[in-house]
Amino acid sequence: METTQAVKVLTHFIGGEMVEGKSNRFGDVYNPSTGEVIAKVPLATAEETSQAIETAQKAFPKWRDLSVGKRADVVMKFRNLLTENQEQLTQIICEESGKTIDDAKGEITRALESVDLAIGAPHLVKGEYSVNVGGQINSYSAKYPLGVVAAISPFNFPIMVPLAQTSMAVAVGNAVILKASEKVPMTALFISELWKKAGLPDGIWTVINGDKDAVNELLENPKVQAISFVGSTPVAQYIYETGSKYGKRVNAFGGGKNNMVVMPDADLTQVADAFIGAAYGAASQRCMAISTIIPVGEETADKLVAILKEKINALKVGSYTETDTDFGPVISQQSKDAVLNAIARGVDEGVEVVCDGREFDIVKQSKGFFVGPTLLDKVKPGMDIYEQEVFGPARNVVRVRSLEEAIDLINQHELANGVTIYTNDGAAARKFTTEIDVGMVGVNVPIPIPVGYHNFAGFKGSRFGEGHMFGPDQARFYTKTKTVSERWPTATTVSTSTFAFPSNNE
Ligand code: NAD
Repeated sequence: METTQAVKVLTHFIGGEMVEGKSNRFGDVYNPSTGEVIAKVPLATAEETSQAIETAQKAFPKWRDLSVGKRADVVMKFRNLLTENQEQLTQIICEESGKTIDDAKGEITRALESVDLAIGAPHLVKGEYSVNVGGQINSYSAKYPLGVVAAISPFNFPIMVPLAQTSMAVAVGNAVILKASEKVPMTALFISELWKKAGLPDGIWTVINGDKDAVNELLENPKVQAISFVGSTPVAQYIYETGSKYGKRVNAFGGGKNNMVVMPDADLTQVADAFIGAAYGAASQRCMAISTIIPVGEETADKLVAILKEKINALKVGSYTETDTDFGPVISQQSKDAVLNAIARGVDEGVEVVCDGREFDIVKQSKGFFVGPTLLDKVKPGMDIYEQEVFGPARNVVRVRSLEEAIDLINQHELANGVTIYTNDGAAARKFTTEIDVGMVGVNVPIPIPVGYHNFAGFKGSRFGEGHMFGPDQARFYTKTKTVSERWPTATTVSTSTFAFPSNNE
């Protein structure tokens, strides 16, 4: 269904207010299901970004000084508002990202997990205390907030990733600046209103919309203490290197090229069902989407490809406004072209096309950015379609002879976000989980994305820096540990000058 809507002019959210952009530069926000421009997003200058940082810096001390319990209370109210406004949030996410309604609801549920963890921040920032470490001195270590911290988000999870990056940062007492993806800024602006309603003081939550001008200011401005980035690998590497050069704490999450290994003993119908959801859900625009299925042995491969072919050709691609849609469009025309080109290059490189998503009617007839589900067999390492992350529904079959060959192949790839194995053989699963060099590993699980209270991170080109997203490590990333040694002299305390290195022999 294609509709014509009025084009909204969006704002930033600074100091607790929606603030108009001053740059006179705007990006187009699309409804990917219709191909129409639905909003114009202001792209901030370095100066506007710097002013937003200044506002956040001024707001920080009061928030830092509030008790951890009171801060957690604000986060709890924010959580309640998210659930109360779930329908409207779903609508906004679907409209600007093209996700199906079920997928958007699933994303909101996962976003809530991060908020839940942040409500427990008082527990996670508890310190350590030692009595009488020497000479009546007591010593404690405590976690203090960093100050102004920034999160830079991708388009593919308009709410889950921004909240995974920021909820804990707010809860432990920082002032947070979100540079949302310029492709999906409406969700970020909507949740800004919810933070305000929850009672978060003005200036503690900022949304600065923009592109690399805004990002570069966040990277270079000395008032910004930490950067959390999620996006593509080349930009993640740039953010990590530049932010580190400017003395910031940085974690930067990049792309994925995730594999599903299928052992000959696996139930192939179950595998096919798991693969289809994990590979094509959200039009394959997930960093944890399965890109490549690796059947072990020719017989496994032949049987599996036959089952997959039938199931994939029956998938329904369409708009979120239609209830039986399995997945929607990719985010932009540019993205659609990139996926179609990747398929064409694969064909030139000699792959076998099992399911050709280019032939779906909607791909040819709609102005929305649709690509049908595509499965390419006999894909080989070294081919572009195997090596590069393709952020759209073109998926691969790579045939191998043994589990060892599958492990070697996966371990040689630059990207190492997620991986999964399907088998009933415990020894094979154990060998796989031990030897595989990938950050998040599944056994008979389609997408091994950890729940909000476990740490999330890939290895190698999928993550630069040391921090994790989700999980208790978030509290560590957004705080600095200070160790205080204190003595309260009494009348009998002897005052001396000691020139030997302090030791605990007294
Ligand atoms: P992207 O790298 O194009 O953009 C991410 C963010 O960086 C956006 O806010 C964008 O404005 C900004 N940006 C883009 N180019 C920049 C530049 N040259 N300088 C400074 N800032 C720049 O990524 P995307 O297309 O929005 O998102 C998809 C990518 O994100 C995929 O590669 C996907 O795998 C990855 N991703 C990774 C994870 C993870 O947890 N590892 C999660 C979600 C998405």
